[in-house]
Amino acid sequence: MFNQVELGFAMDELEPHIDKLTIETHYGKHHAAYTKMFNELAEKAGAADKDAAEILGSLDSISDETLRKGLRNQGGGYYNHNLYFSTLSPKPAKAPTGKLLEKINEAFGSLDEVKDKLSKAAIGQFGSGWSFLSADKEGNLFVTASPNQDNPISEGTGRTPILALDVWEHAYYLKYKNLRADYVKEFWEVLDWKKVEELYEKR
Ligand code: MN
Repeated sequence: MFNQVELGFAMDELEPHIDKLTIETHYGKHHAAYTKMFNELAEKAGAADKDAAEILGSLDSISDETLRKGLRNQGGGYYNHNLYFSTLSPKPAKAPTGKLLEKINEAFGSLDEVKDKLSKAAIGQFGSGWSFLSADKEGNLFVTASPNQDNPISEGTGRTPILALDVWEHAYYLKYKNLRADYVKEFWEVLDWKKVEELYEKR
């Protein structure tokens, strides 16, 4: 049984950066729906005992095209939102430390640079999708964007996403309307780099 990650904050605690109604709708409706559908499809595929990353990383093994597409979309929606919501905090660490910070400086020059790259990837994603910071087994870092509910796992890169920036309109439209870039700017105010660092260490 796949469960939504528990929110580490009250629905209104990310204000003014992300408003209460958006969190209520995003977590309580959208993410809840992805989770419900993913559970049904994973059951159907006989994969309910696997973990979500394992399912997303082996979609090619599912021969039924409708089921495969469903798992890619609903499973991706489940996984991506668990990552997104688990890294948001009203009292975030505004920077990583240790190995992750070292790697960021090495690969991108500075924390501001990687944030800028992630922002640009998110803002430039045509239509619905995400930008991701992901890491390979060796600890190398990658900034990418994905459409829909795809991610570096379902895209077969073998990398682990450690930061997910949701730019589906449901993530920001109630407050920011068409101004995606304004939401992306505010996202960094509630992104907890401590959580990102934990995920980097666990990859
Ligand atoms: Mn979303």
